[in-house]
Amino acid sequence: MISEERKAVVSNVRKVLIKIGTGVLTGKEGLDLGIIDQLVEEVAGLKKRGMHAVIVTSGAIASGRHRMGITRKLRSMPEKQAAAAIGQGRLMRIYSNSFGKHGIFVAQMLLTMSDLTDRQRFINIRNTLTKLIEWGVVPIINENDTVSVDEIKFGDNDHLAAMMANIIEADLLINLTNTDGLYDRNPKESRKARQIKLVREITDEIEAAATAEADPVGMGGMKSKVMAAKKVTACGIPYIIAGGKKKGVLNDILSGKEIGTLFLPMTDCLNSREYWIAFTLRSRGKLILDDGAKSAIIDRGKSLLPSGITEVEGEFSVGDPVICLDREGIPVAKGLVNYSSEEIKKIQGLKTSKIEQVLGYKHYDEVIHRDNMAVSRDKRLRKA
Ligand code: GLU
Repeated sequence: MISEERKAVVSNVRKVLIKIGTGVLTGKEGLDLGIIDQLVEEVAGLKKRGMHAVIVTSGAIASGRHRMGITRKLRSMPEKQAAAAIGQGRLMRIYSNSFGKHGIFVAQMLLTMSDLTDRQRFINIRNTLTKLIEWGVVPIINENDTVSVDEIKFGDNDHLAAMMANIIEADLLINLTNTDGLYDRNPKESRKARQIKLVREITDEIEAAATAEADPVGMGGMKSKVMAAKKVTACGIPYIIAGGKKKGVLNDILSGKEIGTLFLPMTDCLNSREYWIAFTLRSRGKLILDDGAKSAIIDRGKSLLPSGITEVEGEFSVGDPVICLDREGIPVAKGLVNYSSEEIKKIQGLKTSKIEQVLGYKHYDEVIHRDNMAVSRDKRLRKA
C-alpha cells in the first residue's frame, strides 16, 4: 500500500540527489562493479522517465586502500588522502564506463567546505551544476579528500549531499546506505529493533535512535545521516534513507513504495522573508507566465522578466505582492512587483532592453526580483 505521504513526496520529483555510501559501493574485493552497474542502470531509467539525477558518491578511499592491498583501517589523514587520490580516478572510470553503456556522460566535481562558504565559488558550483543538468550529464560529486583536512573537511559525504541538495534545489534526497533505514534502536545490538518508516519531525527520540556507531567501511554512520536529514528537511526537501544494495531500490522509492525511512520536509522551511511574502501578504493580482519564465524561476533560480509574462490580472501598484501562475493556473511563485499592473501590461512579452523605449524609463530589469520572491518546491504556495 502506498501512503499519502509517499505519494506526495514522489509525485513531482524532477531533480533527485542520490548519495551512495562506501558500504554500498564496496564488497570484500574493493569496489563492487555489479552494484555500481545495478545502480547506474536504475539512474539511467530515472533519466529516461525525465528526471535529473545528481550523485554524491563515497568509495574513493576504500577503493584506493584496496588497490594498495591494505586490509587494516587507514589511520592517518595523509593515508586516507593518498588512498582517496588513488581511488577517485578508478571510481570515476567505473561510473563513466557504467553510464556510458546507457549513452550517458558523467562529470566529476570534487569539493571542500571552503568552496561552499566562499560566495563566489558557491555561485560557480551552482552555475556548473545547472549547466551539467541542462546538458543531461550526471554530475558525480565527492569531497576533495586530498586537500581537505580538519576544518575544511565536510566531515562526511552525508553533509556534502545535504548541501548539494540545497544548491540544486532537489525535490528529493535519497541516501543509500548499507542498512535499510533508521531503526528505533541499534539493530546490531537489539533484535527488537524496528525500522522507522516515517519521520515527521526530528525529535530527541529520533536523534537518540540514530546510533553514532559508523559502519566499518563508511564514515558517517546513522547519526550523521540524521543530522544531515535536519538540514535537508529544513530547506523543504524530503529525505529518504534506504538500503542501496537492494535491486530496484531507486525505482521502488520513486514509485512510492514504503522503502527505507522517509523524513518529511519541515513545513516552515521557507526563510522568513520568503515566508512573509508567501503567506503573510495577500496577493493583489496575478501574472500569467509562459513556460520559459516558469522554468527559469523554478529550475534556474531566476528573477521574473517582462518577456515571460503573457497576461496581467487585477490592479496593483509598485511593491504590491502578486501571484505568478503558469499556463494551467498553477502557482509558480509569489513576489513583490517592481512595476504596476498598468506598466506591466505595456511591457509584457517584451525584452528587457525595450522597457525604456516603451515606458520612457527603466527603474529595474526585472518585474519581480528573485530576492523579493517566494518560490515553493512543494504545494504549499498553491494555497496562497
Ligand atoms: N570522500 C570519502 C571517499 O570517497 C567518503 C566520505 C564519506 O563516506 O563520508 O572515500
